[in-house]
Amino acid sequence: MKYDVIIIGAGPGGIFSAYELMKKRPGLKVGVFEAGTELEKRHCPIDGEKIKTCIRCKSCSIMSGFGGAGAFSDGKYNITNDFGGTLHEYIGKKKAIELMQYVDNINLEHGGEGTKLYSTAGTEFKKKCIQNKLQLLDASVRHLGTDINYVVLKNLYAEMKDRIDFHFSSPVDHIEVLSEKKAGTAPRYRIYYSGASTKADTVRTAEARYLIISVGRIGSKWMEKTCRELQIPTKSNRVDIGVRVELPSVVFSHLTDELYESKIVYRTEKFEDSVRTFCMNPNGIVVNENTNGIVTVNGHSFEDASRKTENTNFALLVSKHFSEPFKDSNGYGESIARLSNMLGGGVIVQRFGDLARGRRSNVSRIEEGTVRPTLQATPGDLSLVLPKRILDGIIEMIYALDKIAPGTANNDTLLYGVEVKFYNMEVRLDKNLETNHPGLYVIGDGSGVTHCRGVASASGVYVADHILGRT
Ligand SMILES: Cc1cc2nc3c(=O)[nH]c(=O)nc-3n(C[C@H](O)[C@H](O)[C@H](O)COP(=O)(O)OP(=O)(O)OC[C@H]3O[C@@H](n4cnc5c(N)ncnc54)[C@H](O)[C@@H]3O)c2cc1C
Repeated sequence: MKYDVIIIGAGPGGIFSAYELMKKRPGLKVGVFEAGTELEKRHCPIDGEKIKTCIRCKSCSIMSGFGGAGAFSDGKYNITNDFGGTLHEYIGKKKAIELMQYVDNINLEHGGEGTKLYSTAGTEFKKKCIQNKLQLLDASVRHLGTDINYVVLKNLYAEMKDRIDFHFSSPVDHIEVLSEKKAGTAPRYRIYYSGASTKADTVRTAEARYLIISVGRIGSKWMEKTCRELQIPTKSNRVDIGVRVELPSVVFSHLTDELYESKIVYRTEKFEDSVRTFCMNPNGIVVNENTNGIVTVNGHSFEDASRKTENTNFALLVSKHFSEPFKDSNGYGESIARLSNMLGGGVIVQRFGDLARGRRSNVSRIEEGTVRPTLQATPGDLSLVLPKRILDGIIEMIYALDKIAPGTANNDTLLYGVEVKFYNMEVRLDKNLETNHPGLYVIGDGSGVTHCRGVASASGVYVADHILGRT
């Protein structure tokens, strides 16, 4: 099979590359190869009754398939250079914001119209945060909600499916760089993949002049292997470790009503580490997340009023950057998550009051508490899992947040652990997000450059436009 452009991965990065190519140059032959299934076939088997915990499916429906990792997420599209990645360092701040707004408009045209755009511009909370040693980061956030996010993806797929070749259940194994015989001619790329309709051991190939890799966080190990094989330089990256906090939504409603998602940073007194809030879900639910077979925690919320809960949840995370000789930051995060899986059989939940008193939570203490957990997790002791420095930082931040949102440090506030944000090592890319192989681009979370849907999508559009400028 021969294409003009091959895209590996159908998450936001891959989707927006494909969409841009299709819209701006309908004659181009574009093939998308995706390890997971199409959107409507994505189903996690956990039903809370027969299947209670992760059974480690061959392809995880939560993380893989059309829509990528956040297909069932809260559907927050951030428009900011303050967090969510460092795309602006490659393409400039103005261009990065323009592309995020461009993506936002496409989402609105595909079912997102009527959803709310929240903004920190001119908010009073900035001052209140500074007065309490907290920093509120600047951002605009479009909240699609899990339900509308799904509709937008469904509509995008409907528009693309007959004009782009989508190959689902087709994980790409490896890439070959084909050097042209004529000197000075650009290389082509051949991918080796196993197709859905072929026997498991049958390997197929496809070729293109341009190759866009957009394999997300789930493809981090594959990306490391590919960089080694193709001698693409990389730098090691960070891992964020922490807990998900769940409390009555009224505690944070003054913030969430105005801003929806507030990214707040606190510098700890003890170690001067930064602890930040992440992924706030007003009236949402706490969920399991599976990364490479390790169960961690995350959160969702719905736009549909009937699916709203009485709780708000958000993560508190501490970033760990490692220096020489240690390079395996994700391995460090995985080991901590494994420890919680070992002790709790999955995610552990603890009341803040129990953590502060140095005792484990048990079923009766959780049941007697005023916060109804939205995730079935094992009551336990997070101090046996999280390193002291990280835990001390989280406890300090909870007391700091209590000053701007009284009730955060209540005894019954629930902490789920562990939440780990794995980042891909950063691939060495030029300002076009192109590797040392001409025509081979890496975008989205798989590049280590982006960490959210808005920025990953923007990187996809940017690279598509660059290819269009060359063809
Ligand atoms: C539960 C959850 C909630 C989230 N909530 C939000 C949110 O509200 N807002 C936000 O901005 N971000 C959120 N995120 C993060 C966001 O989803 C990611 O930043 C974003 O999806 C990254 O897009 P991507 O295209 O780079 O990669 P991904 O979305 O991870 O997509 C990569 C795709 O590549 C495929 N793939 C991997 N390896 C191969 C291979 N070898 N061959 C073929 N295909 C392959 C995968 O199956 C996957 O479908 C959330 C993430 C999760 C897990």
